[in-house]
Amino acid sequence: MISGVEGHICENCVAQAQQIIDEELFHKNKKFQFNLPNNVKPRDIKKFLDDFVIGQDDAKKYISVAVYNHYKRLNQTKNDEVEIEKSNIVLVGQTGTGKTLLAKSIARFLNVPFAIVDATVFTEAGYVGEDVESILSRLLQACNYDVSAAQHGIIYIDEIDKVARKGGDNPSITRDVSGEGVQQAMLKLLEGSEVLVPPQGGRKHPEQKLVKVDTSNILFICGGAFEGIDKLIATRMNQSKVGFKKGEEKDKVDTNNFLKYVSPLDLRSFGLIPELIGRLPVLVHLDPLDAKALRSILTEPKNALFKQYKKIFKADGIQLNFDEDAIDYIVAKAIEYKLGARGLRSICEAVMTDAMYDLPSEKDVKQFTVTRGFVKEKLEHTQVSKLKAA
Ligand code: ADP
Repeated sequence: MISGVEGHICENCVAQAQQIIDEELFHKNKKFQFNLPNNVKPRDIKKFLDDFVIGQDDAKKYISVAVYNHYKRLNQTKNDEVEIEKSNIVLVGQTGTGKTLLAKSIARFLNVPFAIVDATVFTEAGYVGEDVESILSRLLQACNYDVSAAQHGIIYIDEIDKVARKGGDNPSITRDVSGEGVQQAMLKLLEGSEVLVPPQGGRKHPEQKLVKVDTSNILFICGGAFEGIDKLIATRMNQSKVGFKKGEEKDKVDTNNFLKYVSPLDLRSFGLIPELIGRLPVLVHLDPLDAKALRSILTEPKNALFKQYKKIFKADGIQLNFDEDAIDYIVAKAIEYKLGARGLRSICEAVMTDAMYDLPSEKDVKQFTVTRGFVKEKLEHTQVSKLKAA
């Protein structure tokens, strides 16, 4: 026994306490390894994304390059003359076209802490809502408050379009609590600086201990539907000389998909402040999903919905098949109800629930084929509004 002023401690307890302290210190001082797995190149990153996300080739290409360069940036020496700047990304595309999925997939590939936050909950300091700094709280939570890991993480900020200045780029509106003020506050985070973060999120309280997080190596991916931006793009193109031209050249403009031509100017017209746009140098559009893409989404990705249902049934010894025209019918309904890719899941659930309920109890059933008739019957008994709510 080792004696102290008011008590004794045995040698085993001393040894154990030492071990606890060592582990804590190791955890604290651990340097986060930040290398791309196995010497991969941008093409390999895109190939990985192909396993999870259908189509969106342009977006995948831009993201692959941005991430690849991000690593180069992390490995550059501090006193290098040429400094590679941060390559934060902004994704513009209709809802349900794969923006969040792209961000999630890239985080899976990189194996770094990842958090999704929604820009709509933030307001300017002093108003009801959350402080912008709590974006970083989510990332800290995602990696168990390991600050050095968080400092190399990726944050996906959804609905960035909702913090646009009301009235577009007309600066005359003075009070705009959830718009320009929030954008101003975001600047600091995006450009890379030391930020004091409330670990539990929410508002900064004087009694809450703040954690210092350096954001210079955090990759920010922002996404938004920017509803109506296609009209702004069309107007800009119509006005500019390089836009619509007479005769043949006019045909080259894809008027069904104006998002293809999105430029920083359009984000500005939409109501993002130029400073914020400047800190999101990689601007990428996502294509709307057509029937072919929706069909592929059901069957091709690594965890495609159909693969999931097959797995569920296989666990009960039942082989599940889908007829081709049953798949066509599901896709046609998703388009008819304007549900997009997100609606595929609710449609499939409506179709499959009865089968998932009954078949496990029927011992003789070893195989089950989903036919067009079966899909039609199940959907006839489902309210469209129910599908939409999902
Ligand atoms: P948003 O663009 O609104 O962020 P999400 O990425 O959340 O859309 O997509 C919603 C769901 O739709 C995803 O979870 C995924 O199942 C499916 N999905 C959407 N787009 C694609 C795509 N391009 N490839 C594969 N699945 C997709």
